Amino acid sequence: MNKTAVTVAYGDGIGPEIMQAVLDILMEAQAKIDVECIEIGQKLYSRGIKSGIEPSAWDSLRRTGVFLKAPITTPQGGGVKSLNVTIRKSLGLYANVRPCVAYPPFVHTLHPNMDVVIIRENEEDLYAGIEHRQTDEVMQCLKLISRPGCEKIVRYAFEYARQNGRKRVTCFTKDNIMKLTDGLFHKVFDEIALEYPDIENEHWIVDIGAAKLADTPEVFDVIVMPNLYGDILSDVAAQIAGSIGMAGSANIGEHGAMFEAIHGSAPAIAGQNVANPSGLLLAAVMMLVHIGQPEVAARIHNAWLRTIEDGIHTADIYSPEASTKSVGTTEFAAAVIARLNQLPQTFSAVTYTNAPKLRSAITTIRKPAANKELVGVDVFLHWRDGSPDTLGRLLEATNTQALALTMVTNRGVKIWPNGLPETFCTDHWRCRFMRTDDNQPVQHSDIINLLQHISNAELDFIKCENLCYFDGEPGFTLGQGQ
Ligand code: NAD
Repeated sequence: MNKTAVTVAYGDGIGPEIMQAVLDILMEAQAKIDVECIEIGQKLYSRGIKSGIEPSAWDSLRRTGVFLKAPITTPQGGGVKSLNVTIRKSLGLYANVRPCVAYPPFVHTLHPNMDVVIIRENEEDLYAGIEHRQTDEVMQCLKLISRPGCEKIVRYAFEYARQNGRKRVTCFTKDNIMKLTDGLFHKVFDEIALEYPDIENEHWIVDIGAAKLADTPEVFDVIVMPNLYGDILSDVAAQIAGSIGMAGSANIGEHGAMFEAIHGSAPAIAGQNVANPSGLLLAAVMMLVHIGQPEVAARIHNAWLRTIEDGIHTADIYSPEASTKSVGTTEFAAAVIARLNQLPQTFSAVTYTNAPKLRSAITTIRKPAANKELVGVDVFLHWRDGSPDTLGRLLEATNTQALALTMVTNRGVKIWPNGLPETFCTDHWRCRFMRTDDNQPVQHSDIINLLQHISNAELDFIKCENLCYFDGEPGFTLGQGQ
């Protein structure tokens, strides 16, 4: 059998030690892979390479289409952008598959029957990373959700469920609040669910869904959700299953796949030989299935299950009741290697022969363009010189023949006309101007004219959002309290 080229990055923090442990196991199990190492992350940042990745590394990733990646460190609050997000989005790895499984009684958990797969959308949502400081007091992050993005991930979730013998797909969104963005995700979920009558489907609002997941995870099977909720809740799910150190993930796209642990680089325990390599190892098992080496995948997975059953545990899952030996990263890897020809005794042995590939075969058919009608504009102002009524009066004076002020909100709450004095206002105002004649379409020139009036009134506009109807449906929401 020919070897498959796999791009490997050792990453930051605990990355190098868990990657070495995993590669040692893969080699001993005779995985047919040719490792191409690339450097990414902190080493490159410190050399002044802001992207954290060099062009030659992209060449390797695009050539092999298979990436086994250890975690990397991303600065918090400021600094360089997340390379993880860049890689997922640049390579179109839209589906993040995160199985979270309990291993009772060998690994302590309050949820012994838990076996949930979280399918996290990987390219959109607040992870577009488009942020702006708009005023002295207000920062903004754009949440972008697209129909093709929703269709791909939702269809992937149903295909995954069908191919893996799963019974139900649940969708989590917050569409009672974000009616257009999360609303689209939910709507597409309902549409696509109709095409899979053999799979049950349900939707939960994410807050109560998260509470239920943390409390009774065994009622869930496959859960599909937008990027941010999926990021947060897969960590919760992995941790309550036993340990964040035990969950692997696959990032799947049409042109490639990346396999990684779901945890981060855990800098506090780096270099101490205490990290659990299981998350990355289970990701590597998914990779072996993906590249068509199911026997090696099963051999490693079964040896790992046997190691866990034998009570040979790293510190994160060690307990005097369930463990026989507390080991470091390298000793854990050696214990798995020693069991490569053994099957688990208590857990069911896994087999991946005939396992469906995690590959993506999802196509989306773009809908024809809608009939779009411009009916108004939201103009955003940076202003702090008085009361909402003062602002309302100033803005009414800027009305044009085509566009008239109908509402002002502050952080989404209507404060003009007829706001409440109790409402706290920042220096960031959204001012809605609607067309004066319902039969007259608004032109770009009308908006430019309005902005000129606003500028002449010495009001500082910071951006505007066009208000359109799409096939007669408003493409904008009401103000809170409107
Ligand atoms: P983390 O997952 O690195 O650590 C959270 C906690 O879990 C820590 O207490 C850590 O010691 C423990 N832990 C994590 N993995 C473990 C393992 N394998 N064995 C034993 N214990 C383990 O999360 P964090 O501290 O929030 O993030 C650290 C860095 O990792 C940040 O820079 C973050 O951006 C990055 N990160 C990277 C990825 C990735 O590369 N895919 C994912 C998440 C976070």
